Amino acid sequence: RTRKEEKAVLQLNDEQEAAVHYTHGPSLIIAGPGTGKTRTLTCKIARMAKKADVSKGVVLAITFTRKAAEEMKERLDNLGVDEGNVLVQTFHGLGYEILEESGEQIQLADRNVYEFLIRQTIRKSGLNINVHSAKQRISDVKKMMFTGAVPDNESFFLLTSYEKEMNAAGMMDFDDLVIKSIECLEKKKSFYEKFIKRFTAVCIDEYQDLDAAQYRLVKLMTKDISKITAIGDPNQSIYGFRGGDSFYFDQFRKDWPGTKLFRLTRNYRSSENILSTAWKLMESSSEDSSLKVISGIPGRPVVLKVCSDEKKEAEWIADCIQKGIGGTGHHAIYAGMDDHEGDRFGFSDIAVLVRTRKQMDIIGDVFLKKGIPFQTGSEKSLQENAVVKEIIAAFRILSGQAMVWDLFSFSFGIPCKESWIQKLWEENPLLSFHMEKKEMGSLNKKISALTKMYHSSRDSIQLMEAVLDEVDPEKKKRDDLFVAALLKKAEKKDPAAFLKEIFLEKEIDTVSEKAEKVSMITLHASKGLEFPMVFMPGCEEGFLPHRKGGKSLDEDEERRLFYVGITRAASSLWLSWAKRRRIFGKSEERMISPFVRDILFLLAEEKERKAVKEKKDGQMRLF
Ligand code: ATP
Ligand code: MG
Repeated sequence: RTRKEEKAVLQLNDEQEAAVHYTHGPSLIIAGPGTGKTRTLTCKIARMAKKADVSKGVVLAITFTRKAAEEMKERLDNLGVDEGNVLVQTFHGLGYEILEESGEQIQLADRNVYEFLIRQTIRKSGLNINVHSAKQRISDVKKMMFTGAVPDNESFFLLTSYEKEMNAAGMMDFDDLVIKSIECLEKKKSFYEKFIKRFTAVCIDEYQDLDAAQYRLVKLMTKDISKITAIGDPNQSIYGFRGGDSFYFDQFRKDWPGTKLFRLTRNYRSSENILSTAWKLMESSSEDSSLKVISGIPGRPVVLKVCSDEKKEAEWIADCIQKGIGGTGHHAIYAGMDDHEGDRFGFSDIAVLVRTRKQMDIIGDVFLKKGIPFQTGSEKSLQENAVVKEIIAAFRILSGQAMVWDLFSFSFGIPCKESWIQKLWEENPLLSFHMEKKEMGSLNKKISALTKMYHSSRDSIQLMEAVLDEVDPEKKKRDDLFVAALLKKAEKKDPAAFLKEIFLEKEIDTVSEKAEKVSMITLHASKGLEFPMVFMPGCEEGFLPHRKGGKSLDEDEERRLFYVGITRAASSLWLSWAKRRRIFGKSEERMISPFVRDILFLLAEEKERKAVKEKKDGQMRLF
């Protein structure tokens, strides 16, 4: 096939094609949202994987979430790439593979265990700090020490106390998957050499969100490889602690001299109105004006709505959705995307993006009442669900991986106090379930029945159903959605593989896009996704920027998060805020987000524009 034919088949523009075709050395693709970065990277991987001599190695593709990895695999499959010619992994998945193959013990602390150990750490260290900030600080200090920076005494003390607890339990947390895999590669030289030999090229998506440890892992992976491609958008960096949003882009060029830089400038996702709104937000803070993108796609006006309270806001969203769904004239849902033209507008085309998970409650209530199907599809809430916890704990118990803390979840209706767990933990942290504890008498019977079942069947579904038989029917009925989601995950997997999958799931929510439901997700989880119709409720001070424990989070990063949200929208965008809102049970007066204020200010400055005015219904058209 000629280069021209290939370009037509892959549907690439000139800029994209040039980036795909360049495989002579390291390259960086820096471009704004919706310019086809992920698509370009996927095509490049496909091209390399097809041309490669598999006996020499495969292409390693690193994505940020498991969902992105799954999507990329599907795309590669559609492009005719042999599964064996690529390895698509997240950083955590790669870390897991390294540790597993090198024969290291991997006991990943699930949420219960992790939080229990954090509470232990706080208790023992005597520090005056809550669970949430302890988690954050431990994770930050860990990564910080990786850059060689020296933390303050208290943070260092917190980290060492925590590590003592983790070591005593023989447990790892999520960050450790990457950190310990680096240590492992640096320690076991011959394993390292052997491991990296299998790769001929390395490609990384969402490069702007790399942290110090992940960067080091990339460097280790590419020791003998010049074909490295990183792709990202500094303006979409939303996972802080990078030492500046373009830090690792600059570092890349230092570490790989001769790096070729590619730019993509045409946006294929969003209407011009949406892109103008997005750029108004960034133009004063973006270091790089070439990240401004254009699409030339016409679209609906961007709406800003003020509501009296959060309930009214939720009702307004529901109304807009119902009008949109009912109407036939909703033009250009996927503006400019030929293959979507003429599609009818469905619930799955809609996303509600929120800053905090709490915001989902009231909107979910209203949606339920109005009969709007939706999915919050969050792994976090999935794994926090009581029945799900019970099932997971049962699997751990039955696969011999359980420890004291599984008592938290696996109680079969017998309540379990933390003080009691703590006592057992102090006596013997690795206590198994086959112990002779008086308190455990009633559990033991059921456990032995399940153990028998476990040994007679390797089938996750059967096992799960057996466990479910033991769960309170009322509880089961209430949580049947969660249970269904879990059953789906267990399909075609043995219990060990199922557990691994569950643990590797990052604390990022994902939605199964194919369902005919509205997606309600956090802004963080919306990265890389796109929806024709996007709602962003809660455009208020306190949410954007978010305030936690009385402190506002990093304003630049919050602004970028807002930017990520806006740029998910393809054809219509609906921003809203409420003048009053219940926060922690108290009704509070709220102010419009300073980010929205910036947009309004810049709009008002443009003399030739008619002044943007609020209409009687509280709605305002931005662009
Ligand atoms: P983000 O910054 O949000 O991650 P991105 O730069 O990775 O976005 P993609 O998700 O790859 O962008 O592409 C955005 C949309 O544009 C997708 O629907 C994609 O299929 C479409 N697209 C990209 N390139 C082209 C092209 N050359 N022709 C037609 N559609 C395209
Ligand atoms: Mg992308």
